[in-house]
Amino acid sequence: MAKKTPTTENHCSFCGRPESQTRMLLAGANGYICDACVQQASQILNEHQHAATFAPAASRAIPQPREIKEYLDQYVIGQEDAKRVLSVAVYNHYKRLKYYASHDTKEDVEIEKSNIVIVGETGTGKTLLARTIARVLEVPFCIADATTLTEAGYVGDDVENVLVRLLQAADYDVAAAEQGIVFIDEIDKIARKGDNPSITRDVSGEGVQQALLKLLEGAVVNVPPQGGRKHPEQQMVQINTRNILFIAGGAFDGIDRTIASRLKSNVIGYNGTKTREEIDRHNMLRYILPTDLRHFGLIPELVGRFPMLTYLNPLDREALRRILTEPRNALVRQYEELFKMDDVQLTFAPEALDAVVDTAMEYRLGARGLRSIMESVMTDFMYDLPSLGGGSVCITKEIVTEKISKSNINNSLKD
Ligand code: ADP
Repeated sequence: MAKKTPTTENHCSFCGRPESQTRMLLAGANGYICDACVQQASQILNEHQHAATFAPAASRAIPQPREIKEYLDQYVIGQEDAKRVLSVAVYNHYKRLKYYASHDTKEDVEIEKSNIVIVGETGTGKTLLARTIARVLEVPFCIADATTLTEAGYVGDDVENVLVRLLQAADYDVAAAEQGIVFIDEIDKIARKGDNPSITRDVSGEGVQQALLKLLEGAVVNVPPQGGRKHPEQQMVQINTRNILFIAGGAFDGIDRTIASRLKSNVIGYNGTKTREEIDRHNMLRYILPTDLRHFGLIPELVGRFPMLTYLNPLDREALRRILTEPRNALVRQYEELFKMDDVQLTFAPEALDAVVDTAMEYRLGARGLRSIMESVMTDFMYDLPSLGGGSVCITKEIVTEKISKSNINNSLKD
């Protein structure tokens, strides 16, 4: 039975709906608003905020390479060469966007995209660099794992799903996604596996590289907004990848040998001036060239789509020690803040931090291991923290040694 409408009913001042047709009507000083209008207003506000968060890159001031590098310095320890290359690449990328916003593509100089490959051992900061770059630029950012990608039609992720993640990171703002950054992790894992004797297709190697080419070179790609496989009835969103910056990372295990043999056969060396003696044998990656990536199994077309190539240094003891304390979000700082919230002043003896670093070095855990070691040291303290009721805690070397020996780090994390 229809609800009886009282004659003196209040109405929403926005949509005019009578109170009886709303779930709730809120009263203001001079009017009313219904639940549906509140919801709609909130949605508009949200959209507006997202639009403001991801303002078009072409219309805002792009930080200079020096500024980008200084920002990276706050979060990423060392890796000077990579930071400089990235800062320049990103700066050029956004200059390119500005250029195309005011020039006709057909008539003017074509400025190439500055997609980048970062080669470096696992845990040396590839993802951290890409993520930090995206933050400084305030653009949507996503990480795609190349190992999960397969050619369309095979089990695994279609290459287009890379863009689905970017779209999600942009809160479904297509224009923002079209100026975002995609980090493709483990690009080395889709290398061609030598001569493939199998008559079946190389679904996880060359085929994926071919499929990636399309995204990299700038194309309008149909993506299923919710991800998953494409099917005919599905609504598609069109994303133009022309202005998306791709940063690929990989460890390229064994590529140091390729570089070494290239250097050996060309004694003059990397830039024509190095003698054999001058070559830093502990860090072959610094001499990497695009040809080494091809040798490793990336197809030439793909290598060509990444005009910038840089490398990361392995992290030594000193770098790990700095990573513990120096970055803005350094682990030590994070724990200090957590303790402060319970009115406890936390300090670490320098020897305690040395012991943490020693453990990471001993078990070859790298920077990623620092967190698990710190967790195993700090968990008991954090368990008791709220009941301490203030005061101070100093973590000494003895505490670190004791907690680590009790933890299962030495059993479970050992290589
Ligand atoms: P990759 O992508 O090279 O495998 P990540 O960037 O994921 O490595 O690094 C793993 C973690 O180690 C990061 O979250 C960060 O805490 C730490 N880390 C690695 N390298 C550095 C660095 N150079 N400076 C600061 N922290 C680092």
